[in-house]
Amino acid sequence: MAGRTVIVGAGVAGLTLAERLLSRGSGEEVVVVEREESPGGLARTFNVNGFFFDIGPHRFHTADAGVDRYLKSILGRKYVVIPRKSSVFMEGRYRRWPLSLSSLAGLPAGMLAGSLGDMLRRKSGGPVESFADFIRARYGGHLYEYFFRGYTRKFSGMDPEDMHPDWAEAGVNRAVIDKRVKADSLFSMFLGMLAPKPVHTSFYYPSQGGIQSFCDIQSSIVRRNGGAIMTGIPAEGIVSDGGRVRGITMGGGGVLEADRVFWSAPVSLLYPGAGFTFIHTLTANIGLGRRNPRNDYQWCYFGQEDLCFSRTTVPRNFREDTVPAGADSICVEITVTEETLAGGGTEEIKRSLLPQLETVGALRAGDVEFVDWRLIRETYPVYDRAYRERLASAVPPENLILLGRCGSFWYNNMDHSISQALAFSRGERHERDFWSR
Ligand SMILES: Cc1cc2nc3c(=O)[nH]c(=O)nc-3n(C[C@H](O)[C@H](O)[C@H](O)COP(=O)(O)OP(=O)(O)OC[C@H]3O[C@@H](n4cnc5c(N)ncnc54)[C@H](O)[C@@H]3O)c2cc1C
Repeated sequence: MAGRTVIVGAGVAGLTLAERLLSRGSGEEVVVVEREESPGGLARTFNVNGFFFDIGPHRFHTADAGVDRYLKSILGRKYVVIPRKSSVFMEGRYRRWPLSLSSLAGLPAGMLAGSLGDMLRRKSGGPVESFADFIRARYGGHLYEYFFRGYTRKFSGMDPEDMHPDWAEAGVNRAVIDKRVKADSLFSMFLGMLAPKPVHTSFYYPSQGGIQSFCDIQSSIVRRNGGAIMTGIPAEGIVSDGGRVRGITMGGGGVLEADRVFWSAPVSLLYPGAGFTFIHTLTANIGLGRRNPRNDYQWCYFGQEDLCFSRTTVPRNFREDTVPAGADSICVEITVTEETLAGGGTEEIKRSLLPQLETVGALRAGDVEFVDWRLIRETYPVYDRAYRERLASAVPPENLILLGRCGSFWYNNMDHSISQALAFSRGERHERDFWSR
């Protein structure tokens, strides 16, 4: 195709598409427009005083052979394979996730007995219309009350009864990572605990820097092949003419003419009245002067509603050289809604965070060398019960294609964004799913 293709957003999706279009050598002009100063989007990395912090845990894993080939074609030899080690904090203890029989010790007897009863009843239940219905149908009411309800309320700021079951399809299934770790019902979870099968739950990670290294390599290929990446400039919307997009409006003024546009910025910018909303994440990147042996996991979930954070990540358990020798670090994720931001709720979060981390043994206050706060906007699309109708009514012009996590309002992973961009680069359609890739 001749003419100019504009790609809004230099995240994994936008860069994969730009890289593929240019490498194919079709002769079109490719311009990527990015709001931030550096590429990567949610797969960015911050280097603070020699400590590397991704935005929460970011690792590559995929069951899609095409995506796997693409990842390796970009990374070359610059990746390491790391066995997964994730945890959940319950009743004052760090426990391996997925749970094993030994990790059940100390959990409330009432909850365990109740879950056993839920499992033995194994009723299929009524229609699954909400996140809460989905979880109760799969894991029983006791486990829902004990963990999922509070965790989800804290994470999303919503009542799980008001959330679409797709939120569970995307978020809960993915927490397991490897389909061979069967945890899709209470019964299979208990079976897995009684007779754990050895499973391959490794993932890839760049061998230098953080996860952003992947996007940095893609960016250099795009530039080498004649593409342009304009950073630090937000796109504000589109200009259309007779049912076609003619260009995008740029922050600071002006229109960038385009023959077609791929849009991976939030879809809410294109449909401001449609009710698309996102959750944001406040990350606290904490540098520690010495090692904390309790942080023996890559990432850990915290369901307790009296803690302001939902997950912590320990970068050195991805790769040792993400911290200076002898030092340690933690990235803490606190999800916040637009209302929390507008109401100034982040000040209280900032005051309470370190004491809360001390109570769970994640750090000793005296070891803290710095806390680097970042507000990462639009980290999760909100799946309320009407979100599918909202998406169906947002029909873009023929030469505007919605792309990526925020553009196609898809609670996805990097491999999904890559798979979608690969399909679009071949001129193919792409169906969203939450898990199979
Ligand atoms: C905490 C967390 C942990 C995760 N962990 C993993 C993991 O372990 N493995 C995994 O595979 N996936 C993980 N993901 C998901 C993964 O980050 C995303 O699926 C992927 O990065 C999405 O890429 P994208 O290009 O589709 O979207 P984005 O990364 O959102 O890219 C969109 C780009 O558009 C830019 N933009 C926004 N507005 C504008 C505008 N107005 N004008 C111009 N540019 C704009 C943004 O700055 C961004 O660069 C995680 C996500 C989060 C939030």
